[in-house]
Amino acid sequence: MKTLRFKLLDEAFGRKAIKADYPSARTPDYFGKNVFSLEKMKSYLSKSSYKTLLNTIETGMPLSHDIADEVAQGMKHWAIDMGATHYTHWFQPLTGGSAEKHDSFAEFDSERNMVEEFSGKVLVQQEPDASSFPNGGIRNTFEARGYTAWDPASPAFVVGDTLCIPTIFISYTGEALDYKAPLLRSLAAIDKNATRVCKLFDENVQKVHSYLGWEQEYFLVDEALWAGRPDLMLTGRTLMGHESAKNQQLEDHYFGHIPSRVLAFMTDLEVEALKLGIPVKTRHNEVAPNQFELAPIYEETNLAVDHNLLLMSTMRGIARRHNFRVLLHEKPYSGVNGSGKHCNWSLGTDTGVNLLSPGKDALSNLQFVTFVANVLKAVYKHNGLLKASISSATNAHRLGANEAPPAIISVFLGTQVSAVLSKVVKSTSEEAIVFDKKAGLKLGIGHIPEIFIDNTDRNRTSPFAFTGNRFEFRAVGSSENCGGAMLALHAAVAEQLNDFTEEVEARMKKGEAKEKAIFEVVKAYIKDSTAIHFDGNGYSDEWKAEAAKRGLCCETSVPVIFDAYLAKDSVKTFSNTNVLTERELHSRCEVKWEMYSKKIQIESRVLGDLAMNHVIPVATEYQSKLLDNVAKVAAHFPETLSGAMSAQNKLIIERIANHTNEITVGVQSMVDERKKANKAGSERDKAIAYHDNVIPRMATVRYHIDKLELIVDNEMWPLPKYRELLFIR
Ligand code: ADP
Ligand code: MG
Repeated sequence: MKTLRFKLLDEAFGRKAIKADYPSARTPDYFGKNVFSLEKMKSYLSKSSYKTLLNTIETGMPLSHDIADEVAQGMKHWAIDMGATHYTHWFQPLTGGSAEKHDSFAEFDSERNMVEEFSGKVLVQQEPDASSFPNGGIRNTFEARGYTAWDPASPAFVVGDTLCIPTIFISYTGEALDYKAPLLRSLAAIDKNATRVCKLFDENVQKVHSYLGWEQEYFLVDEALWAGRPDLMLTGRTLMGHESAKNQQLEDHYFGHIPSRVLAFMTDLEVEALKLGIPVKTRHNEVAPNQFELAPIYEETNLAVDHNLLLMSTMRGIARRHNFRVLLHEKPYSGVNGSGKHCNWSLGTDTGVNLLSPGKDALSNLQFVTFVANVLKAVYKHNGLLKASISSATNAHRLGANEAPPAIISVFLGTQVSAVLSKVVKSTSEEAIVFDKKAGLKLGIGHIPEIFIDNTDRNRTSPFAFTGNRFEFRAVGSSENCGGAMLALHAAVAEQLNDFTEEVEARMKKGEAKEKAIFEVVKAYIKDSTAIHFDGNGYSDEWKAEAAKRGLCCETSVPVIFDAYLAKDSVKTFSNTNVLTERELHSRCEVKWEMYSKKIQIESRVLGDLAMNHVIPVATEYQSKLLDNVAKVAAHFPETLSGAMSAQNKLIIERIANHTNEITVGVQSMVDERKKANKAGSERDKAIAYHDNVIPRMATVRYHIDKLELIVDNEMWPLPKYRELLFIR
């Protein structure tokens, strides 16, 4: 009789590419089909309501009840025309991912006739039960109620039969319980403070936008094999599994030919994403086997974050159509690359200038250097906080291993920008500043050639790298809401830009010329932040030692890294920029610690179950078979012969006994440590106990299971192996 594993393998091998559902139309014809875009608003709303809504979108002014009602009517009609029967406020709780509660449009009117209703009140605000979402203690002190409130800056969309309305999620007392609310506040802070800096260079600038282009990495695994791995099903990663003899050593997967079954999935996904207005553009194989990447064209950050969340949930659904499961975990398999979500970030003005682009002419400009210097200083000052913003139980497995950036934040600038910055430091303002009537203030030293953007001066090991016209925050994890990292970055940079303007203005008040004042402050910032600038190999041990000497945060325990959110400087920065109050920060940390412990707790339980119920019984059965063989050999052959004939098997029997014994003892001690951890006085202490005492025991148990995998009869081994999970497609 075939074991379950071999039945699943047969099923997986039998899969053929399902033909993707290609629409006959061309991309521009269906792009945004499922989105209540400006164009659709125009046709479903009166002229005046459309204008008022547009103003709300641009300025954030609240909508009046009348207008909200009219917008709701228009939105309802459009959604019903699209086949929707339900609506939901779509929000971003601190658990990660997105959340939704569907209500149908169906209502009784006063004569108990069934009608389809959707009012402005319902559009603008809802009250999901906040007590079911993590809130870090905020709800206990006040009320269980929480509100979701419409974010008109992100358009509504239809998924299946449901109209989805992007919303923020706040408590009864107005505290943010999600990622979107503080992200919007951080965008306002960036706009305000960056615009002030821009006005030093160009009075015409009225607004600064933040732009984000994420690159989503992920793994695919055949659904049948996935179903045979309770660890993948319940935790998103394999908790055991010996390395495959071949994995990524030959580097033959990266940018390789995309397998036809995967391509069918990708095509299907792209069509759905494009219909939802997500401008997907790039697809390719990643470094690890069965690992891939998808990247869209960058967008305004609020929209980009929504689109990433929407993409992650769309991927899950489409993958199932193709009998795949998508793994968004940062490290589904040990020993091969993990998955990140590189966040390409830039700032741009309403006058069309990318503030992080050196510009087209050979003359480098002062405004660009000003923004780079401010970003450098902000990242330096808040390197611990930025690390906290990307840290999680899952990303911890990825950082510092297999091609992922190390768990130390530093900034890579590349040779050309580095050269310009060091020239600034060595020059006087008289030497450096050129005033060009047409182009305004210019930096007359150093050249950043136009080809810079395309140049391959890249550094994969840097967690925060300048890549020609943007910074790429590479340390962000593949499963994360990238809003968490973006809002921390925005708060840090916004406050820094504010300090910059104040310092420049103070100098000008004392009579210093504007050009000189700007130059001197920029020069000081570059000097202040040398410690964060590192263009070398981030993987090396020398860098770890050097980073510690430079005073950068080198902490590796995730629960302790989270402390950075509550450091004095962080609290000050978040409150000065109105991004998060101290109370909100405390609640966020509680949630982070709680989530951390829960994740490790679940992993440890699953590992314990698998060890005791799957692995040990099979290992013992195999051991009995060997013992049978030894006994039979002894019965049939004289002792002089049977000893030698059974020597190998006896050795294996002993090794199995040793490993199963270590596993049993290890599981018991892991359970004991969990019990102790659960009694910890605070969420922080609990998370630290899980980190310090439970994780190391999990590693021991895994070690012995992986050893058994090499010894036990392949026919009997109960779980799909790495070579199967990683290579069957
Ligand atoms: P690579 O893998 O070479 O870093 P990709 O093409 O995979 O590049 O992804 C780069 C991402 O950066 C894309 O989403 C792209 O739209 C985005 N991007 C390009 N220019 C900017 C910019 N100025 N600001 C923000 N994102 C940008
Ligand atoms: Mg890429």
